[in-house]
Amino acid sequence: MSQANDTTKPYVGRFAPSPTGVLHFGSLVAAVGSYLRARSQNGRWLIRVEDLDPPREVPGAAEEQIATLARFGLRSDAPVSYQSRSASLHDKALKQLLDNKSAYWCGCSRRHLPPDGIYPGTCRDGLPPGREPRSVRLRTDDAETECFVDVIQGEYCDHPGRIGGDFIIRRGDGLIAYQLAVVVDDAATGITEVVRGADLLDSTPRQLLVYRRLGLSPPGWMHLPVVTDDQGRKLSKSDNDDPVAARTPSEAMRLALRALGHEPPAGTRSLDAQWQWARENFDLQRIPRGPVAVGVHPA
Ligand code: GLU
Repeated sequence: MSQANDTTKPYVGRFAPSPTGVLHFGSLVAAVGSYLRARSQNGRWLIRVEDLDPPREVPGAAEEQIATLARFGLRSDAPVSYQSRSASLHDKALKQLLDNKSAYWCGCSRRHLPPDGIYPGTCRDGLPPGREPRSVRLRTDDAETECFVDVIQGEYCDHPGRIGGDFIIRRGDGLIAYQLAVVVDDAATGITEVVRGADLLDSTPRQLLVYRRLGLSPPGWMHLPVVTDDQGRKLSKSDNDDPVAARTPSEAMRLALRALGHEPPAGTRSLDAQWQWARENFDLQRIPRGPVAVGVHPA
């Protein structure tokens, strides 16, 4: 079983936004939570822009997100890194996985998948006649169930192939897929613990398998609660009432801390005072496991 954060190494945490639009409230919660956790471990906190999907990228979004984070006092302890600049590392990892037969070229497109969307392993033993190589998939048929101990969610086990079978690590359009890039970049920057939203909890078994197949040791994991509106729907990027845009930083910070179970006492109003209180009182036990509603009403 993959264990929690290796406490013999100096802690390095990160926040890894995708530049697909403005920084939304769920991302702010992940940024504040990962920052507080890093500081509570006397660790470093890095920002990495996950700009590996040009079709989904919004021009200027990365700079705007970084500027928004700075307004909350959230600054990376090293120059902000960009995933698009580590293409040679991604290619090397891809080659290693193909060479050690953990991955294979696949000639199927979405229209070849069965209705349940689970890839049935069509190209595992070679491309069927008439198919051209398109994407690269990681084999999951020979994988064990992956288990890890999440700092907040507790023990979590799943089979890496459960969601979609052998999963794509290089897309048909030639782009490196998130599941591979995130592992390569976290490992290359020495991240000791990944702190992010629980919407990515079910990606973790796939990422653990990638670590294993690349011979890398995985980090610890801490998945923060997903934020919902009062009806229990996950706040989406399109919510008109996103607290980050609709409120002052100190008001948005209060809501972010509330989502993390760390609402400062009444009277702690300024951003600086809230940070100080949160750093002094940060306690994992306060962080809810399940989804949290913070009193935001989408318009
Ligand atoms: N880039 C992903 C997102 O914005 C986060 C990836 C991660 O933290 O592993 O949802």
